[in-house]
Amino acid sequence: MADLNASIAVIEEAIGSYPDLAVTTGLNISGSVLLDLVSRSNFSGAVLFVDTGYHFPQTLSLWEELQDRYSEMNFVALGADNPPDTLYSRDPELCCSLNKVAPLENYLQEHRVSAVLNARTRVSSPGRRDLSVIEHGTRVRINPLIEWSYEDLEHYLEDRDIPYHSLYHEGYLSMGCWPCTGPVKPGQDPRSGRFMGQGRSECGIWLDVKKA
Ligand code: SF4
Repeated sequence: MADLNASIAVIEEAIGSYPDLAVTTGLNISGSVLLDLVSRSNFSGAVLFVDTGYHFPQTLSLWEELQDRYSEMNFVALGADNPPDTLYSRDPELCCSLNKVAPLENYLQEHRVSAVLNARTRVSSPGRRDLSVIEHGTRVRINPLIEWSYEDLEHYLEDRDIPYHSLYHEGYLSMGCWPCTGPVKPGQDPRSGRFMGQGRSECGIWLDVKKA
């Protein structure tokens, strides 16, 4: 079972150490948990979500719902404003680079953000089994939920009546854009529904990290 107090301690230390701290979220269920925890820790900074232009309507609805619930924070939707296209089928890596990685990176550079909090967990992908609480790269990445299981996340959301993604219980354990995301079956790699048929499991946002 996840250690709630340990996660809150990591968050409070991050808030105290980095005045420019930002939260990034892909609106997975762990993201809903993280927003509630940072709210309990009196965070009032930026919450960043990249609106690629290809999100499920349920994702955008959740984004609105979370803004209403946690109005003390500064919710910022980032986007490249590229016209609708089918680049995702012709060159998905370029599509991710233009529509996902670049808008976030541009914001972080413009605002000189030195540290980000995010909600990745070790159980969310075989490639994340060795995830550390602190990662160093272009900027510090702090991962307070690495030990949380899906059961831990579900219990927390239920106990606190927190809004979370409505497609989760349909098998969408990892949320992404509709052209590249599908449900997974019980027992499958939770992230196997992402970038289906593309031979990759990451969009590129988290690739430039080194363990502490
Ligand atoms: S996940 Fe798919 S649609 Fe979304 S930015 Fe990447 S390639 Fe484009």
